[in-house]
Amino acid sequence: MKKIMLTGDRPTGRLHVGHYVGSLKRRVELQNTGDFDDIFIMIADAQALTDNADNPEKVRENIIEVALDYLACGLDPEKSTLFIQSQIPELCELTFYYMNLVTVSRLQRNPTVKSEIQQRNFEASIPVGFFTYPISQAADITAFKATTVPVGEDQMPMLEQTKEIVHKFNSVYGETLVDPKILLPDNEACLRLPGTDGKAKMSKSLGNCIYLSEEPEDIKKKVFSMFTDPTHIRIEDPGKLEGNTVFTYLDAFCRPEYFAEFLPEYAGLDELKEHYKRGGLGDMKVKRFLNNVLQAELEPIRNRRKEFQKDIPAVYEILRKGSEKAEKVAAETLREVKEAMRINYFDDQEMIAKQSEKFAE
Ligand code: ATP
Ligand code: MG
Repeated sequence: MKKIMLTGDRPTGRLHVGHYVGSLKRRVELQNTGDFDDIFIMIADAQALTDNADNPEKVRENIIEVALDYLACGLDPEKSTLFIQSQIPELCELTFYYMNLVTVSRLQRNPTVKSEIQQRNFEASIPVGFFTYPISQAADITAFKATTVPVGEDQMPMLEQTKEIVHKFNSVYGETLVDPKILLPDNEACLRLPGTDGKAKMSKSLGNCIYLSEEPEDIKKKVFSMFTDPTHIRIEDPGKLEGNTVFTYLDAFCRPEYFAEFLPEYAGLDELKEHYKRGGLGDMKVKRFLNNVLQAELEPIRNRRKEFQKDIPAVYEILRKGSEKAEKVAAETLREVKEAMRINYFDDQEMIAKQSEKFAE
């Protein structure tokens, strides 16, 4: 079986370091192994509209921001197909048929959607499109016959929903859709990177992000105002690591070589943690180190982005070409789906011949 990757992001803002460790970095590594037959990276504008219907300009403006972040991180249009979801109408058709295979109560149990509804204060006025976006996500994944979906932990319920739709479809209509596998980050700190405010998830919608394109001064400001251990008041006090965002970020971003470069008095992260727990290590020193680490990680990304920013029409051309290719692939899957569902009337010469005989009798 072919190895195919699909994943994407909502154009609701520039991409942040949570996206990077949760999914983007992995995509680029996998892309560069050359192991995949095809890679599809989608800018999910139609999904973004499900909770931004009154603000299409925000979605429109952020398409280029996300595309620039992709290119800056090393996604290469020669190796990966970068495309825009709304330009592939076949995805809507697939969604419409999959809707018949999912119950309202099943959608209501989706924990990620539940917490997003709360976060957005939708309560009694949930847009139907938003409520059903896990079904449209199943269409995105299956349209490209994805075998591998590298995402953060919040996407687990979406993948489960997709797998259920695949199984149901295949059992009702015959083996047609491919069962995808979720690929979560190996590093626990990267599963769901917290925001700089210590909240459970860094998220564009919560305003607690460090963006990939952030300028050095802003990275520094955000790091120095980050949430640590509120009971660690004096330097000599023992400090806690649990819920301490600065240490979670070090777990996510620190490479061993950064110690030699920026903090040679420690052999590595374990020794730094031990000292913090014992007492005698101040938050400022740890934050200075984290700032150096993040500056080193983000500088090359920011610089590459600035190069791509010089030719915006070329970026749209990449997306146009990618969308054309993606549509061809989705159209073929839709054809197979309609054949399996027996709604391919005009292609079914056998049916037409049989009915001709029947009515001739
Ligand atoms: P929004 O608030 O608009 O939903 P978001 O910041 O949650 O935006 P998405 O576009 O929904 O971003 O998610 C894109 C990808 O990034 C998904 O694979 C998701 O799992 C991953 N991701 C998003 N935030 C984080 C995070 N804080 N830690 C790890 N992965 C993340
Ligand atoms: Mg999200």
